[in-house]
Amino acid sequence: MHLSIMLLATAALVQAGAASARRTLVHTLPELMAAIVTPAPGDAIVLADGEWRDADIVLRGDGEATAPITLTAEHPGKAILVGASRIRMAGRYLIVSDLVFRDGHTPGDAVIAFRTDTKHWADHSRVTGVVIDRFNNPDRRAEDHWVSIYGSHNRIDHAHFEGKANAGAMMIVVRQKSMPLDNRARIDHNYFGPRPPLGSNGGETIRIGTSEESASDSHTVVEDNVFEHCDGEVEIVSVKSGGNSVRRNLFLQSQGSVVLRHGNGNVVKDNVFLGGGQPHTGGIRIINERQVVRNNYLEGMGGVDFTSALAVMNGVPRSPVNRYMPVRRALIERNSFLAVAQITIGAGADRERSQPPLDTRIVGNLMTAAKDATDVLRFDADAGGITFAGNVLAGSGAARDGIAVLKVGMRRAANGLLYPTDPALAALGASRTLTPTRREDVGVRWYGTRSATADARIADAPGKVVRIKPGGAIASLPRATVVELARGTYDIAAPLIVAAPLTIRSVPAGAATLRLRASTLFQLEDGGSLTLEGVRIDGRGAVGDEIAVIRTSARPTLGNYRLRLAGVSVNDIAGDVIATTPGTLAGAITLTDGRYADVKGAVLALAAEHGRQGWYPAEQVTIAGAEFDRVGTVVDLRRGGTDESTFGPRFSLTGATIRSSGPVRLSGVQEASITGNRFVDSAGVTVEHTVGNPHTRIVGNRLRATPAPQVRETSYMGAPRAILSDNREGL
Ligand code: CA
Repeated sequence: MHLSIMLLATAALVQAGAASARRTLVHTLPELMAAIVTPAPGDAIVLADGEWRDADIVLRGDGEATAPITLTAEHPGKAILVGASRIRMAGRYLIVSDLVFRDGHTPGDAVIAFRTDTKHWADHSRVTGVVIDRFNNPDRRAEDHWVSIYGSHNRIDHAHFEGKANAGAMMIVVRQKSMPLDNRARIDHNYFGPRPPLGSNGGETIRIGTSEESASDSHTVVEDNVFEHCDGEVEIVSVKSGGNSVRRNLFLQSQGSVVLRHGNGNVVKDNVFLGGGQPHTGGIRIINERQVVRNNYLEGMGGVDFTSALAVMNGVPRSPVNRYMPVRRALIERNSFLAVAQITIGAGADRERSQPPLDTRIVGNLMTAAKDATDVLRFDADAGGITFAGNVLAGSGAARDGIAVLKVGMRRAANGLLYPTDPALAALGASRTLTPTRREDVGVRWYGTRSATADARIADAPGKVVRIKPGGAIASLPRATVVELARGTYDIAAPLIVAAPLTIRSVPAGAATLRLRASTLFQLEDGGSLTLEGVRIDGRGAVGDEIAVIRTSARPTLGNYRLRLAGVSVNDIAGDVIATTPGTLAGAITLTDGRYADVKGAVLALAAEHGRQGWYPAEQVTIAGAEFDRVGTVVDLRRGGTDESTFGPRFSLTGATIRSSGPVRLSGVQEASITGNRFVDSAGVTVEHTVGNPHTRIVGNRLRATPAPQVRETSYMGAPRAILSDNREGL
């Protein structure tokens, strides 16, 4: 069968010759491999409708501008590549179109690569109308990219990318010495859909180059795309080369920024950023020389510091290539920054980043503050190297040369954007002809969107309520449901596996006791989230060496889980209460009220990640109003590494009472708020700042026979950066 088809294909080639194009419909992998061996200009290899499993496709050939070689689907979206599938291409004038990747992941470092190996790449080629949907390696720490662009004059357009959850940018332009550096790639009319926080560096949506070759120009254009909930890390688009344009894109409620990280002479213009007031929604961050930021419209950006609506960074004098080249000759003109939390000049200023921006012009911009924003226009360094002219800060604030403070009436225009009503201010801020890119003009028409945030909605959805009495079969928990436990005691002899959102509630509160008879009570697997309300957990009968009430999966997972314990009482645990494992990430861990007593290990053991990559266990950890008695460690929360790529972890401890207990220990946490707690005869709080610009606030705590809070800097050269006040003896 296989052989005869190969012979037929060869015969067809001989008969047709290169002059007349063939369209070869293939139904099996062997048919495909045969048809794709030596394609001629104008040839099309067409994948029949259906699932193509483990399709490792190499498309090699030289098409012509008017007769490209095409790999496509019988019907758009109906040929679906699953399992260990990928496409590699090399040659000229190649087109890949209308294919879908889902339910699998690449066996290599890219799903679609514009090269077949280190010596052969594609030029003048195009990937269009392709969908890549959650095509993720199940180990979130394993790095791959969805599209790796090598070569020059390549285009990726009208594609749909959604739900990347393992490490690696969705799309990269690769620049290596042995290959073209003048890429002239065009990335246009794509839909970049939800990407959840990764919990490490490597969660970019697009990266253009790396620091090594950043002194040369890539001339890549990123235009007319939509970015929605691209929350992977602090960089949505990471520009690490020169001469690129990012224009006419729409950024919707995405955490992070367009970052001109390395390379000179880049242009960011005519983009619309809508933050919806969400935390960490950022705008444009400037580093290096001759960057132009013009006619952008930003509204409702919640980001501050590095992720401000506009962040002009301080640089490192004589900076190594991978650090921060000083800003010089930047032009920032006629942008609207409306209802934003912050604009930061001299962002990141410290003893290393000591060089303020130079020869920079900030002209004709309109700025207004978000409702609760104080200090909207923030100077973290000397602005003597910046010329301000014709800017307006609407509302209140401190005027200075070139920045007037005025009351400005605003009205929403037909394009959906806000403009001053006063005709005298017509030349201020973004132009009235700016048109936000529309969803219907990007991506493909035939593919719906399975928003990654749907997972979070499921966790909130009220499930089917199942009532169980003592003696009932609690071990076989239904999926996505609520279990109400009646008064009594429940012996748990084997871990309960949680692989879907689950709520367990004691009715009435405090009446149901789960007795741990194994080493683990709840084991969270991929897709699982857990809420416990009002239950008591008794660990006196636990057996085994490593005891934890709740433990995350032994294998790495992709889904960001949630854990909420409300009014839960836990006693006599010979290990930890919550123990996280490497390669898992909590969106949120929340403890409200409740009591944790006689715990030998840690109540929150969140320090399992090692290594320097900066992986951490939870975006947000919140403890409110809980009591801790005779607990070995209250919290051990750690983020390693020294990159500045993540918003988390964030930590909050309020209204708690901690007696005769070990420490609250934080390392590498980006935001910490420890307020209004009582510590008695305990080890207190130790905070270690390792990276970034951490915000630590330890205020209004009462201490008895407990040391004062300690804050230590491991790399920042200066006094510890923390607000410490009103932490005193007394109760
Ligand atoms: Ca990054």
